[in-house]
Amino acid sequence: MKKSSVKRIWSILLLCLLLSITVACGGGGGGGGSGSGGSSSGVSGSYEERVANYKAAYGKSDEWEDWMIANKARYEAVFAASSAKPATITISFRYETTPISYNPAWADETEHMNVLATMAEGAYPGYNFNIVFEGNTSSSYANIIAGTAGSTSYSFGKDVYLYFETIFNHEFGHTMNLPHHYDSVGEIGDGKHMPPGDTKCIMDRTSTMYCSACRTALGIPLDITDTTAMDAAMTDILSRYP
Ligand SMILES: [Zn+2]
Ligand SMILES: [Zn+2]
Repeated sequence: MKKSSVKRIWSILLLCLLLSITVACGGGGGGGGSGSGGSSSGVSGSYEERVANYKAAYGKSDEWEDWMIANKARYEAVFAASSAKPATITISFRYETTPISYNPAWADETEHMNVLATMAEGAYPGYNFNIVFEGNTSSSYANIIAGTAGSTSYSFGKDVYLYFETIFNHEFGHTMNLPHHYDSVGEIGDGKHMPPGDTKCIMDRTSTMYCSACRTALGIPLDITDTTAMDAAMTDILSRYP
Protein backbone atom coordinates (compact mmCIF):
# COMPACT_ATOMS: atom_id res chain seq x y z
CA MET A 1 0.00 0.00 0.00
CA LYS A 2 2.67 2.42 1.02
CA LYS A 3 4.97 1.35 -1.77
CA SER A 4 2.35 1.93 -4.44
CA SER A 5 1.51 5.31 -3.00
CA VAL A 6 5.12 6.34 -3.18
CA LYS A 7 5.28 5.01 -6.71
CA ARG A 8 2.28 7.08 -7.65
CA ILE A 9 3.85 10.18 -6.15
CA TRP A 10 6.94 9.63 -8.26
CA SER A 11 5.09 8.94 -11.44
CA ILE A 12 3.14 12.12 -10.95
CA LEU A 13 6.25 14.11 -10.14
CA LEU A 14 7.74 12.78 -13.33
CA LEU A 15 4.64 13.75 -15.23
CA CYS A 16 4.88 17.25 -13.79
CA LEU A 17 8.42 17.36 -14.90
CA LEU A 18 7.62 16.39 -18.45
CA LEU A 19 4.77 18.82 -18.62
CA SER A 20 6.55 21.72 -17.07
CA ILE A 21 9.93 21.49 -18.59
CA THR A 22 9.48 24.04 -21.31
CA VAL A 23 7.86 26.47 -18.97
CA ALA A 24 9.92 28.37 -16.48
CA CYS A 25 10.92 26.16 -13.61
CA GLY A 26 13.76 28.55 -13.88
CA GLY A 27 13.68 30.34 -10.63
CA GLY A 28 14.07 34.02 -10.58
CA GLY A 29 13.49 34.38 -6.95
CA GLY A 30 10.80 36.43 -5.48
CA GLY A 31 9.91 35.73 -1.96
CA GLY A 32 12.44 37.01 0.37
CA GLY A 33 15.67 37.58 -1.40
CA SER A 34 16.73 41.13 -1.10
CA GLY A 35 15.28 44.32 0.03
CA SER A 36 13.34 43.10 3.01
CA GLY A 37 15.58 45.01 5.33
CA GLY A 38 17.57 42.43 7.14
CA SER A 39 16.95 39.34 9.10
CA SER A 40 13.78 38.78 11.01
CA SER A 41 14.64 35.23 11.93
CA GLY A 42 17.75 36.00 13.91
CA VAL A 43 20.10 34.52 11.35
CA SER A 44 23.28 36.44 10.80
CA GLY A 45 26.79 35.99 9.51
CA SER A 46 28.20 35.22 6.12
CA TYR A 47 27.71 32.35 3.72
CA GLU A 48 31.15 31.06 4.66
CA GLU A 49 30.25 31.15 8.34
CA ARG A 50 27.11 29.14 7.81
CA VAL A 51 29.03 26.55 5.81
CA ALA A 52 31.65 26.32 8.57
CA ASN A 53 28.93 26.02 11.20
CA TYR A 54 27.19 23.22 9.29
CA LYS A 55 30.50 21.43 8.78
CA ALA A 56 31.15 21.50 12.51
CA ALA A 57 27.60 20.66 13.55
CA TYR A 58 27.11 17.74 11.18
CA GLY A 59 30.65 16.42 10.82
CA LYS A 60 31.00 17.25 7.13
CA SER A 61 34.38 16.79 5.44
CA ASP A 62 36.96 19.33 4.32
CA GLU A 63 36.06 18.34 0.76
CA TRP A 64 32.42 19.20 1.44
CA GLU A 65 33.34 22.61 2.79
CA ASP A 66 35.64 23.27 -0.18
CA TRP A 67 32.82 22.30 -2.55
CA MET A 68 30.36 24.61 -0.80
CA ILE A 69 32.78 27.52 -1.07
CA ALA A 70 33.62 26.73 -4.70
CA ASN A 71 29.90 26.65 -5.50
CA LYS A 72 29.03 29.81 -3.62
CA ALA A 73 27.68 31.42 -6.79
CA ARG A 74 24.98 28.74 -6.96
CA TYR A 75 23.86 29.23 -3.38
CA GLU A 76 24.61 32.78 -2.31
CA ALA A 77 21.18 34.09 -3.25
CA VAL A 78 19.52 31.16 -1.51
CA PHE A 79 21.54 31.91 1.61
CA ALA A 80 20.41 35.54 1.44
CA ALA A 81 16.75 34.57 1.06
CA SER A 82 16.86 32.08 3.90
CA SER A 83 18.65 34.56 6.14
CA ALA A 84 15.98 37.18 5.49
CA LYS A 85 12.92 34.98 5.61
CA PRO A 86 10.28 35.67 8.25
CA ALA A 87 9.72 33.25 11.13
CA THR A 88 6.36 32.33 9.63
CA ILE A 89 6.10 31.96 5.87
CA THR A 90 2.60 33.04 4.94
CA ILE A 91 1.43 31.75 1.61
CA SER A 92 -1.79 32.75 -0.06
CA PHE A 93 -3.53 29.93 -1.90
CA ARG A 94 -6.06 30.35 -4.65
CA TYR A 95 -7.36 28.41 -7.63
CA GLU A 96 -6.44 29.78 -11.02
CA THR A 97 -9.97 29.60 -12.34
CA THR A 98 -12.21 26.88 -10.99
CA PRO A 99 -11.60 24.82 -7.85
CA ILE A 100 -10.14 21.36 -8.33
CA SER A 101 -12.80 18.66 -7.95
CA TYR A 102 -11.12 16.70 -5.18
CA ASN A 103 -12.63 13.29 -4.56
CA PRO A 104 -13.25 12.78 -1.76
CA ALA A 105 -13.66 16.47 -1.12
CA TRP A 106 -11.79 18.18 1.71
CA ALA A 107 -13.87 18.82 4.83
CA ASP A 108 -13.10 22.47 4.14
CA GLU A 109 -10.22 24.50 2.69
CA THR A 110 -8.64 24.81 6.14
CA GLU A 111 -8.10 21.05 6.24
CA HIS A 112 -6.66 21.26 2.72
CA MET A 113 -4.31 24.13 3.64
CA ASN A 114 -3.09 22.29 6.74
CA VAL A 115 -2.21 19.19 4.71
CA LEU A 116 -0.31 21.38 2.25
CA ALA A 117 1.60 22.97 5.12
CA THR A 118 2.50 19.54 6.50
CA MET A 119 3.77 18.55 3.06
CA ALA A 120 5.87 21.72 2.83
CA GLU A 121 7.31 21.44 6.32
CA GLY A 122 8.46 17.90 5.53
CA ALA A 123 10.87 19.16 2.88
CA TYR A 124 11.71 22.36 4.78
CA PRO A 125 12.28 21.22 8.36
CA GLY A 126 12.38 24.22 10.67
CA TYR A 127 10.33 26.41 8.35
CA ASN A 128 6.87 27.31 9.58
CA PHE A 129 4.34 27.54 6.75
CA ASN A 130 1.00 29.23 7.18
CA ILE A 131 -1.00 28.59 4.02
CA VAL A 132 -4.06 30.78 3.84
CA PHE A 133 -6.93 30.10 1.45
CA GLU A 134 -7.51 33.23 -0.62
CA GLY A 135 -5.22 35.21 1.64
CA ASN A 136 -3.67 38.58 0.94
CA THR A 137 -1.41 38.15 -2.09
CA SER A 138 0.51 41.37 -1.48
CA SER A 139 1.63 40.88 2.12
CA SER A 140 2.21 37.15 1.58
CA TYR A 141 5.68 35.71 1.25
CA ALA A 142 4.56 33.63 -1.72
CA ASN A 143 1.37 32.67 -3.52
CA ILE A 144 0.08 29.32 -4.70
CA ILE A 145 -2.10 29.36 -7.80
CA ALA A 146 -3.49 25.84 -8.03
CA GLY A 147 -5.31 23.96 -10.75
CA THR A 148 -3.50 25.64 -13.61
CA ALA A 149 -5.39 25.24 -16.82
CA GLY A 150 -2.28 24.45 -18.80
CA SER A 151 -1.39 21.34 -16.78
CA THR A 152 1.99 22.85 -16.04
CA SER A 153 3.75 23.81 -12.83
CA TYR A 154 6.28 26.60 -12.52
CA SER A 155 7.30 29.54 -10.41
CA PHE A 156 7.39 33.17 -11.38
CA GLY A 157 8.71 35.56 -8.76
CA LYS A 158 6.75 34.83 -5.62
CA ASP A 159 3.90 33.16 -7.50
CA VAL A 160 4.00 29.37 -7.62
CA TYR A 161 1.71 27.87 -10.27
CA LEU A 162 0.76 24.27 -9.59
CA TYR A 163 -1.01 21.66 -11.63
CA PHE A 164 -0.30 18.91 -9.13
CA GLU A 165 0.03 20.45 -5.70
CA THR A 166 2.67 17.90 -4.76
CA ILE A 167 5.25 19.68 -6.91
CA PHE A 168 5.04 22.68 -4.56
CA ASN A 169 8.20 21.90 -2.61
CA HIS A 170 10.30 21.96 -5.78
CA GLU A 171 8.71 25.14 -7.12
CA PHE A 172 8.98 26.93 -3.77
CA GLY A 173 12.69 26.12 -3.91
CA HIS A 174 12.88 28.47 -6.89
CA THR A 175 11.13 31.17 -4.86
CA MET A 176 14.04 30.75 -2.44
CA ASN A 177 16.37 31.25 -5.45
CA LEU A 178 17.47 27.62 -5.70
CA PRO A 179 18.84 26.49 -9.07
CA HIS A 180 18.36 23.03 -10.52
CA HIS A 181 21.21 20.55 -10.20
CA TYR A 182 20.97 19.92 -13.93
CA ASP A 183 21.99 22.38 -16.61
CA SER A 184 19.80 20.90 -19.34
CA VAL A 185 16.72 18.73 -19.55
CA GLY A 186 18.75 15.73 -20.64
CA GLU A 187 20.73 15.85 -17.41
CA ILE A 188 17.78 15.61 -15.05
CA GLY A 189 18.50 13.03 -12.38
CA ASP A 190 22.17 12.71 -13.28
CA GLY A 191 23.34 14.06 -9.94
CA LYS A 192 25.26 16.98 -11.35
CA HIS A 193 26.53 19.75 -9.08
CA MET A 194 26.14 17.53 -6.01
CA PRO A 195 28.24 18.16 -2.92
CA PRO A 196 30.52 15.30 -1.76
CA GLY A 197 28.42 12.63 -0.07
CA ASP A 198 25.11 13.42 -1.82
CA THR A 199 23.45 11.87 -4.84
CA LYS A 200 19.79 12.91 -4.68
CA CYS A 201 17.81 16.12 -4.29
CA ILE A 202 14.43 17.74 -4.92
CA MET A 203 16.22 20.06 -7.35
CA ASP A 204 17.46 17.08 -9.35
CA ARG A 205 13.95 15.53 -9.27
CA THR A 206 15.32 12.40 -7.61
CA SER A 207 14.04 12.85 -4.07
CA THR A 208 11.36 14.52 -1.98
CA MET A 209 14.16 15.88 0.22
CA TYR A 210 17.01 18.33 -0.37
CA CYS A 211 20.72 17.48 -0.62
CA SER A 212 23.10 18.87 1.99
CA ALA A 213 24.13 21.83 -0.20
CA CYS A 214 20.57 23.00 -0.78
CA ARG A 215 19.77 22.40 2.89
CA THR A 216 22.73 24.43 4.07
CA ALA A 217 21.81 27.32 1.81
CA LEU A 218 18.19 27.10 2.95
CA GLY A 219 19.23 26.95 6.60
CA ILE A 220 17.64 23.52 7.05
CA PRO A 221 19.16 21.00 9.49
CA LEU A 222 20.98 18.11 7.83
CA ASP A 223 19.90 15.51 10.35
CA ILE A 224 16.12 15.66 9.99
CA THR A 225 15.29 13.01 7.43
CA ASP A 226 11.93 11.59 8.47
CA THR A 227 9.53 11.87 5.54
CA THR A 228 6.62 10.00 7.10
CA ALA A 229 4.33 13.00 7.62
CA MET A 230 5.20 14.50 4.23
CA ASP A 231 4.64 11.19 2.44
CA ALA A 232 1.24 10.83 4.09
CA ALA A 233 0.29 14.40 3.13
CA MET A 234 1.32 13.83 -0.50
CA THR A 235 -0.59 10.57 -0.65
CA ASP A 236 -3.63 12.26 0.83
CA ILE A 237 -3.52 15.08 -1.72
CA LEU A 238 -2.89 12.83 -4.73
CA SER A 239 -5.57 10.35 -3.75
CA ARG A 240 -8.11 13.17 -4.01
CA TYR A 241 -7.12 14.43 -7.44
CA PRO A 242 -9.87 13.92 -9.98
ZN1 LIG B 1 12.34 23.62 -11.32
ZN1 LIG C 1 20.26 19.99 -3.85
